[in-house]
This record gives sequence, C-alpha cells and structure tokens, in this order.
Amino acid sequence: MARKRAGGIHLKSAAEIEAIADGGHIIAALLDEIEPRVVPGVTTAALDQFVDAYVRSYDGAVPAFKGLYGFPGSACISVNAEVVHGIPAKRTLRSGDIVSIDVGVRRRGWCADSAFTFPVGEIGADAAHIMDVTRDALRLAVAAAMPGNHVGDIGAAVVKRVRGTGLAIIPDLVGHGVGREIHEEPQVSNVGRPGRGAPLQPGMVLAIEPMLAAGTDQIITLPDRWTVSTADGRLSAHFEHTVAVTADGPAILTGGGIWEKPRRHRGRGDEELPGIGAPLSTTIQHP
Ligand code: MG
Ligand code: MG
Repeated sequence: MARKRAGGIHLKSAAEIEAIADGGHIIAALLDEIEPRVVPGVTTAALDQFVDAYVRSYDGAVPAFKGLYGFPGSACISVNAEVVHGIPAKRTLRSGDIVSIDVGVRRRGWCADSAFTFPVGEIGADAAHIMDVTRDALRLAVAAAMPGNHVGDIGAAVVKRVRGTGLAIIPDLVGHGVGREIHEEPQVSNVGRPGRGAPLQPGMVLAIEPMLAAGTDQIITLPDRWTVSTADGRLSAHFEHTVAVTADGPAILTGGGIWEKPRRHRGRGDEELPGIGAPLSTTIQHP
C-alpha cells in the first residue's frame, strides 16, 4: 500500500494506529502479568520464557525482538547497571535489584514496543529514585509529543525533568519510530533541544524511551556483544511507551495494565508523582 511519508517518516492511518495499539495492549497486559513473577530467586531466562509464551498465546502475535539483528531472547532483560539489550540467562534476581524488561510485539504486520523497570524485593532509595525520575521523564516526554512540536521537544522534556536530580541521561541510546518495523525513522533523542528535529504531525508513531543512569552517562557493551551497561557499573532505569501523535495530542498505545497500578516501592517524593498509563487526550478503543 502507498504510504504517506514525512522526511522518511511513515505516517500511519487511524486503522494502522489501532493495529499497533492492539500489540501495545498485549505488552501492557504482559507486563502486568509478569510483575508478580519478578521476585528474588527467579532467573531472567525464566522471565523470558514467560514473555515468549504469553505473547504467543495471542493469535498471530510474536515477540518482535526474537532474532532481531540476531538477538537470542524474546525480551531484553537488563539488571541494575545494565541499560538495554540484556540477554535472558541463568542469572538469578536478588532482593534490591532493579530489572528492566523491554518487549516488542509484532501482530498482523504491525509492531509495538514498551519497557518497564521493576523493583525486585526491597530496593534502596537510590534505586527508587532513578526509577521514579525515569518514569516521570517518560510521562513528560510523552506529553511533548504534540502536533506543532518537534522531535527535539520530546528529549527536551526529558532534559528538563532530569536536571537537578543527580541523574544522567544516556545520550547514545535513543527512541525511534515504530510501525511495520520495530525500528523506523526518526530517532528520538532523550537529549533533544526545543524546536529542533522533524516537526511532529498526526500519524507519527514513536517509541519514547528515556534511559537514565545514576552516575556517568557513558555506556559499554559487555563481552556477550549485546548487553549495554553503564560504564561505571552504577544503576540504570528504562521506561518506554509507543505513542501515536494525533490531532488531539499524544495517544499512548502501550498503556493500561501495569501502568495504572500503584507502585509497590517507596522512593523519595514518590507519592507526589502523577501516574502514567491512560492516554493523555485521546482514547484508543480495544475490543
Ligand atoms: Mg523497547
Ligand atoms: Mg524501543
């Protein structure tokens, strides 16, 4: 089918956005189902098996990361200093860890992408802090995905939120367009500048995904050639939504489920943070 483009960016129709949201809701439900399984003693491989089976339990749905560029897992599962692309393995989670589970779903030719950082058992104040700020940065970045804004405004919202928190934005990892493929144009930097980058317009679908670090903003790739870790070994957190830009504003396509639950950890100032999960101004209906 002929598709509109804007500077190499595929614009999606309302029906196509609904198809992406269909996969998005599978991920939100999955993250909700997996939460009680993210406990001390579980291996990341066991969580990956759960992801794989859960996604495939939906007719026609497959984990989009499986085999993507050769990735061996169905989810990217990244613990503590690991930022992204952690390979599920025999590693056992321990109380105090934080673990990011990043899942893509492909169904009926359309992809969605979302990530959530979970606490394992009792976590420390520093872990709660980075999780809370990262999640709040996502909320504000999503809110900036308005027609009339530019791609740079999304990352600028992250910059503004992170300033003064003692945390660092990892500049070398970015969000992206999502649609027929998991990774499409444009890149969505988390260190954006206001008014810069492609103009946002209805039909764009973006994976917005702040990735923060407790220490240095520099990253390294581990010897497994996949896992990206903070260079100094300090904590990292990652939250991600797939978001459609609509005429009425941003619509979160991976909301609901886990995103609407109260947090089960307590952090500094935690209670004052608003939640994120429901579409901000547009409701996408699902059967
Ligand atoms: Mg992702
Ligand atoms: Mg992504």
